[in-house]
Amino acid sequence: ISKIAVLTSGGDAPGMNPCIRAVVRTAIYNGLHVAGVRQGYQGLIDNNMYDMDPRSVSNILNLGGTILKTARCLPFRTDEGMETAYKNLKANGIDGLVVIGGDGTFTGALRFSKKYPDISVIGVPGTIDNDLYGSTYTLGFDTATNTVIEAIDKIRDTADAHDRLFFIEVMGRDSGAIALRAGISCGAEAILLPERDTAIEHLIENLKAGQYNKKSSSIVIVAEGDKRGAYDLAEEVRKQIKFYDIKVTILGHLQRGGSPSAFDRILGSRLGFAAVNALIKGETQKMVGLEANHIKLTDLEEALTQHQFKLEDDLMEMSDILSI
Ligand code: ATP
Repeated sequence: ISKIAVLTSGGDAPGMNPCIRAVVRTAIYNGLHVAGVRQGYQGLIDNNMYDMDPRSVSNILNLGGTILKTARCLPFRTDEGMETAYKNLKANGIDGLVVIGGDGTFTGALRFSKKYPDISVIGVPGTIDNDLYGSTYTLGFDTATNTVIEAIDKIRDTADAHDRLFFIEVMGRDSGAIALRAGISCGAEAILLPERDTAIEHLIENLKAGQYNKKSSSIVIVAEGDKRGAYDLAEEVRKQIKFYDIKVTILGHLQRGGSPSAFDRILGSRLGFAAVNALIKGETQKMVGLEANHIKLTDLEEALTQHQFKLEDDLMEMSDILSI
């Protein structure tokens, strides 16, 4: 390996910048050259990349988003797009690639690497959804959860003052990871997750019990992946519950932004450092992750096929019990 490229792809996640910084500095420390690719795979196709040095990544540890920008890139899904990307990498003398993103990003990376095995590829799990196999935590999940908690605490104040019931929708298209942890952290009366079915009757019973137990407000957290949606759920509940004024808040994109937490800064640094060291050791088609507080390499193939992130049983069980 003599020159590596780094890119961020898919949804942005806080912690991507500390990771880019670690990749750049670890590579340069080891005598490698580094190119930063703008806008994910699109930048490979457009040859939109620039040489980076240690100062290119100064003062970015505290920044949310990604200084390299990210994009969803359709042409990279085609053979022609991949060929153009390959030719651009070769023309720039690049023989190693670090991709920071989610499972779509890894799917593209693995396909590309199978077609062009002379470019080594290492993936770094960067997604707020925390739904990748091979790493207990993904970059951005901790920050996003803290952002959600901060927002829900504020909503709780007004809910309590007015005896209101709030339905709060949080991100997680296929994963209830943010919803579950935020729910436990904020004492939500109910947490609706794509990983488990909560019948509307059960939810109503639960809310009635809360009122009977003299709760002055109730918070129901709805993961985005619950197909019923916060508005429709609220409408259904409104028909049967009259003792609360019912409101809905969709937290939306504020959940992606913000300065990365200490946890995500350290995780990003560790994974970026590990990704470059893996390339130097000759690894390819692997994902670097954190398991039991140790760096672990997982085959991208395995990471993608085992893509069934399970929420912790004790958290699921506890969430109902602690909110009685
Ligand atoms: P997030 O979890 O935040 O959505 P992601 O990495 O899963 O992140 P995607 O938009 O699914 O985000 O994928 C990012 C990019 O990876 C796509 O825009 C596309 O360029 C590339 N990609 C995804 N799937 C494939 C595929 N089957 N073949 C080639 N490239 C792909």
